[in-house]
Amino acid sequence: MKKEIADPRKREFFKDAFSFLENTVGVMVKRKTDIIPETRGIIRPPGAVRKKEFLALCTKCDECLKACPHGSIRKLNKDFDIADGTPIILPDERPCYLCDNFPCITACEEGALKGVGDKEDVNMGKAYINESNCMAWGAQFCEHCARNCPVSGAIYLEEGKPVVRRDRCVGCGICENVCNTVNQPLAIKVVPEG
Ligand code: SF4
Ligand code: SF4
Repeated sequence: MKKEIADPRKREFFKDAFSFLENTVGVMVKRKTDIIPETRGIIRPPGAVRKKEFLALCTKCDECLKACPHGSIRKLNKDFDIADGTPIILPDERPCYLCDNFPCITACEEGALKGVGDKEDVNMGKAYINESNCMAWGAQFCEHCARNCPVSGAIYLEEGKPVVRRDRCVGCGICENVCNTVNQPLAIKVVPEG
């Protein structure tokens, strides 16, 4: 037979403990899947039209999410916001790998993601380096961001220190993602434009 917790103080203790656990797990799940940094705007998948038009066209159908072979597209979780449920990219967790033929764009029938010529034409944002957080701008050797950038000339090394050419950067976030694996706090971050 199931044992009852007779002492009301004990009952309260267990109630509090479970509610604490429940909240903590809730926060962890939310963090892992949906939270976006408050310090920057929203990064949309490649080909996204401008903000106002995007929100008018996107039906939150998830077709781009399903089409992305890298699981790079998430849903925005922002309660009581018209943009809640729309597709976003969180580069520090998973960047856009600029797939050939952009399956996410092909999957969007509403025109919220519009065709781009090739990867150099994408503009999801621009990468910025925080030199005081960057190992290479400090005393240590590191060239992870420059070595992994898929766009020719978007990051170059000047005397061993990475410099972003924002006229070439497409905002894929691969540099941010690799920096996140070797350097804390992050030294390079993609910021969406407009
Ligand atoms: S280009 Fe590829 S990796 Fe990038 S969001 Fe689209 S499907 Fe995903
Ligand atoms: S600098 Fe970073 S965000 Fe820009 S294209 Fe290269 S890897 Fe992508």
